[in-house]
Amino acid sequence: MNPTILSVDDSPANLLTIAAMLEDQYDVRISTSGREALELVAQVNPALILLDVMMPDMDGFETCKQLKKIEGFENIPIIFLTALSTPEDEVKCFEAGGADFVSKPCNPTVLRARIKTHIQLKQHLDIVQSLAMRDRLTSLYNRRCFDERINKDWRACQRAHLPLSVLLIDIDHFKSFNDTYGHQKGDECLRTVAQAILGQMRRGHDMAARYGGEEFVCLLPNADASSAFLMAERIRQAIKALAIPHASSNADYVITASIGLASESDFQNKSYVQLLKLADERLYEAKRQGRNRICSSS
Ligand code: GH3
Ligand code: MG
Ligand code: MG
Repeated sequence: MNPTILSVDDSPANLLTIAAMLEDQYDVRISTSGREALELVAQVNPALILLDVMMPDMDGFETCKQLKKIEGFENIPIIFLTALSTPEDEVKCFEAGGADFVSKPCNPTVLRARIKTHIQLKQHLDIVQSLAMRDRLTSLYNRRCFDERINKDWRACQRAHLPLSVLLIDIDHFKSFNDTYGHQKGDECLRTVAQAILGQMRRGHDMAARYGGEEFVCLLPNADASSAFLMAERIRQAIKALAIPHASSNADYVITASIGLASESDFQNKSYVQLLKLADERLYEAKRQGRNRICSSS
């Protein structure tokens, strides 16, 4: 499937010329105004946007600034097509957030070359960004990604008056597992447990991440304490059902985990740091009570 390009120009004749230049390699979608482009972008999901600078109503610079504010579309490369040619005009293209500009009338070879370069750069950026979000051992989201997500979800749940729950999951007696079976088996165990946790995530906005070492975290927006408890219990059972032998554990003969659960539904004057602290205290309590269990109240 060819990448999609959104071409924005108030002149239908220009749009036809551009489309004719590109349509053998790209799926070209068109828009005749900046406002329409702002509405179309989420639906079209273009790999790149070509933006005319001089348009009535909203010009290309303003359209570009507005496009950059749409969540999830901040990094779409935008190439300005401009009849302006002073150095000041060129600088304005970049200041508005443009990736590049091509002078009008467009030379087809130059336009294609620039489009290709910017689409490739964006693809590389996407790869780097998705790697930066993942934990290398387990492929779950990493701690940094979790920190960003809880920050966002906390505010989103607060605005929407929805509860937010977290589960902190820590493997029991994992140090002695490493000591007994070796670090490599330990790594394998972490990968298997990570997949078991991930396998219990049922809803699109639930998130499982590696919190650190042998500790995992689940973020459950719109889950109250009782539904989060059911989720925690499913995870606890799924980990035990892996039946990974752990002869030196005091909790069981197989790998088990302890879980601290905390929920919030009244966000006034609180922060997610307190929610995580509470989950951590409850995890500690689950350990103290004998491990392989969930603690959800203090
Ligand atoms: P508890 O039941 O109280 O949680 O005891 P524990 O032994 O699991 O906890 P402790 O914090 O004492 O030890 C955690 C161990 O996890 C020690 C560390 O070597 C191991 N660990 C942390 N990260 C990794 C990893 O990436 N791979 C392996 N194989 N082991 C790890
Ligand atoms: Mg542990
Ligand atoms: Mg630990």
